[in-house]
Amino acid sequence: MMPDLDSILGVIAKDFRGFHNLWTHSLIVGSLISISLSFFFWSLTRSGFLKWFFLILLSYELHIIADFFTQGRGVMLFWPLSEERYSSPISLFYGVRWSEGLFTIKHLWTLASELITVGGVYFLLNSLERRRLKRLVTD
Ligand SMILES: [Zn+2]
Repeated sequence: MMPDLDSILGVIAKDFRGFHNLWTHSLIVGSLISISLSFFFWSLTRSGFLKWFFLILLSYELHIIADFFTQGRGVMLFWPLSEERYSSPISLFYGVRWSEGLFTIKHLWTLASELITVGGVYFLLNSLERRRLKRLVTD
C-alpha cells in the first residue's frame, strides 16, 4: 500500500488527483525505496539485506503492476525518465472511483474484480502446488 500513501496528501489538500498516483507509482522510485528501506531494516538487524530488498521490491512493484492493470489514467511507470502514463489494454481491475464518494455501488464491482482476479491467481497457484505434491507422493 506504500505507493498509495500519497493519497493522504491529496485528502489533506483536497486535491486527490493532484497528489495521488504520480511519482510514487514509478518502478524506478519503487526500486529506490526498496533499496532505502532494505538498508534501514538491514541496519536494525545486520542481516538479510537481500531478503528485505526482494520482499519490499516485490510488494511495491506488484502494487504498481496492479494499478497498471486497473481501469483509469494509468501509471507513470518510468518517472523521472518519462512522465508518460502507461496502462494495460486489458483491465483486470475496475478501480476505486474517489470522485463518486466513498460509498457508491460501483465499489462493489471494484471489490468483485479484485476478488475474482486474486482468487483466480490463488486457485491457479494452489492447483499447481497440489499437482506438484501429488507427483512427489507418486514418484
Ligand atoms: Zn496505487
